[in-house]
Amino acid sequence: MNDTAISLRLGAWWEANARDLPWRFGRATPWGVLVSEVMSQQTQMSRVVPYWTDWMERWPDARALAEAPKAEVITAWGRLGYPRRALRLQECARVVAEDYADKLPRTYDELTALPGIGDYTASAVMSFAFGERIAVIDTNIRRVLSRVFLGVESRGGATSPAERALANRMLPKDEILGCDADVADNAGSAEHVVNSTIRGGKRSRLHRGERPSVTWNQSVMELGAVICTAKSPLCDTCPIADDCAFLKAGRPGLGERRTRPRQRFQGTDRQVRGLVLAALRELPAGATLPREDADKLWKDQIQLAACIASLDDDGLIEILDGGLRLPS
Ligand code: SF4
Repeated sequence: MNDTAISLRLGAWWEANARDLPWRFGRATPWGVLVSEVMSQQTQMSRVVPYWTDWMERWPDARALAEAPKAEVITAWGRLGYPRRALRLQECARVVAEDYADKLPRTYDELTALPGIGDYTASAVMSFAFGERIAVIDTNIRRVLSRVFLGVESRGGATSPAERALANRMLPKDEILGCDADVADNAGSAEHVVNSTIRGGKRSRLHRGERPSVTWNQSVMELGAVICTAKSPLCDTCPIADDCAFLKAGRPGLGERRTRPRQRFQGTDRQVRGLVLAALRELPAGATLPREDADKLWKDQIQLAACIASLDDDGLIEILDGGLRLPS
């Protein structure tokens, strides 16, 4: 098996097939890339696009988000799910604005010290926004690497040391293709974003000066999202099928996972919390939802009361004498 050939074939596939998401191809600032990654953590990227676009128009940088009223931030998060992420993102924005003069820090340690930013998001920002050579490890990448190089199904759960070692081993070296080092070093700067603005389509990674490790991370992740999916991989159309150990082995244990299947949404606290927040988002700014109206949102009053209390604990709503409202 030739690792370089796999990397080149995946890169060519990425070049021709990558989804044209607005934060890709150098069109977003590092802060915009970070926002896209936080929004995509529990939500499909295609669903994130309209939210991200509105969000970045309204709050184009960390300082703007830091100064926004909480209620507006929660409302703009809309139906992206897990709304505590919105508040964590605003906390992150405050630290970036105050401690880093509104510029996202560039080191792994500084990024992971920001509120709500873990290993995956920090690595993704370093690779996709700053062009640094670092292995990005998410569910899709773990699945593809495990299948292609080890011939076994990735079973979920926490990333194992072996998976991390595999991701580091397979990360291509960074010889820059078709550009000088200054271009890549400037990746993510305001100037780079302007210079890379795409008119009428995607720009070649050669013209963007994208490093091989960045292309690798993006292409493996994209393959896992659209071709090498968990349950129904499209091996017939896969650009690296000839080199895939999992396919050669007859796809043993396809779709098996170590983790338990996801809890159904219907009837869960997540659903009830979502109903309460949706009702509050529909009110005019600053308005209160009378308690008797809130009580009609869900039949099980004990579950409803617990969910309202948990939303209050999370800082997502305020409980007043007469009702509920989004935090000011
Ligand atoms: S051949 Fe099939 S299992 Fe292997 S990487 Fe491609 S889609 Fe995934």
